[in-house]
Amino acid sequence: MSLLIKNGYCIRSQKEGYYDILIEEGTIKRIDKGIDGKDCEVIDAKNCIVMPTFCNAHTHMAMSLFRGLADDLELMEWLTKHIFPAEAKFVDKQMVYVCSKLSILESLRSGMGCFMDMYFFEEEIARAAIEVGVRAIITEGIIDFETPDCKNAREAINKTRSLKEEFSDEELVRVGYGPHSTYTLSYESLRYLADNLSDDDIIHIHINESRREVESVLKDKGKRPIDVLIDVGLLRETTFMAHCVESSDEDISKIANYGANVINVPQSNLKLASGIAPIQDMLKAGIGVYLGTDGAASNNNLDIIEDMRTSSLLQKVKFDERAMDSKTALAMGMNHEGLFDGVGFIREAGPADVVVMSLDDLEATPVYNPYSFVVYAANSRSVRDVIVNGKVILKGGEFVNADEEEVKYEVRELSKKLGAL
Ligand SMILES: [Zn+2]
Repeated sequence: MSLLIKNGYCIRSQKEGYYDILIEEGTIKRIDKGIDGKDCEVIDAKNCIVMPTFCNAHTHMAMSLFRGLADDLELMEWLTKHIFPAEAKFVDKQMVYVCSKLSILESLRSGMGCFMDMYFFEEEIARAAIEVGVRAIITEGIIDFETPDCKNAREAINKTRSLKEEFSDEELVRVGYGPHSTYTLSYESLRYLADNLSDDDIIHIHINESRREVESVLKDKGKRPIDVLIDVGLLRETTFMAHCVESSDEDISKIANYGANVINVPQSNLKLASGIAPIQDMLKAGIGVYLGTDGAASNNNLDIIEDMRTSSLLQKVKFDERAMDSKTALAMGMNHEGLFDGVGFIREAGPADVVVMSLDDLEATPVYNPYSFVVYAANSRSVRDVIVNGKVILKGGEFVNADEEEVKYEVRELSKKLGAL
């Protein structure tokens, strides 16, 4: 049956203002005024904003198990003394599935409809995403040491190749390559990866996260992380680099020249005291910038609306009050350069990935500029309905395809082994 969203105020849309949206077979068929709802399932969006779904371009969904396990620590200490050991002990297929499902549900409540993940047992993250009904790009973590899933980088690269095969017919899932970083991979592993890529393969990597990271790569490899990527042929138009906090002017012009992309991860960068990425300079250089939450162990929630607001406020502090206005911040939070094909802008014949956000709340009174409201005043409480690929998966704040209580119970049971309340 066709779906009709009626009476909403559309933004980031081919037609902005009060329009109805007709959806058929996963696609936006028509955007117009007064569309007849006969034979349609009708969603009344009166007093609501209708906009595209948010895109969380960098996360580790399964890490919800480690939310709040170790806080208030420097990145390398946090990673090597707490996160890596806990992962070695507690990460398995079942943990990845159930903890990812929890995170996907949490994210969906803030209007997220697509995400890119890097972790282990990525097929389990794909399974959770398909069940809930969101889009995912899965990238198995490629790292030189043994993980709970793979013995070494080469095995993870080969696994990624078979995942690509496995999910080739899956509408909601795409598979990319997830080299962890230039400090956890040798030149040899990075070269092996580059030699085995196709032109359209997505590369998802952590780069320039902190000063210590850049210093350690300089010491070990004699070059900055961006130059290492250039050396091995991994700085490409399909490369998506999370963090990029410690990016020099030279780094920025190299990223722009190679057409590579940046994922801003503002709250995780703040919590680990890594700093503020120079996003304003990157946008000026024409770089595609996306938004990510990172995993729940370093944020500690996956509310993409919060990260969007934070990203805008931080650029104002770093540059000036005009930096990262609400339209730019929303574009960044909504896949504006097309990591997920066609998502992020409502247009006829485009994918039907849509959020209905209520304007009933106190903080939504009054609204003069809907972009300003969504970026500076809204929170995930206002997200009412989410539609992905033409299907309603969050309806009035309730999950259509998942039992929230059951998922929470399972994660709580697991977390007791780590000493949770
Ligand atoms: Zn990360």
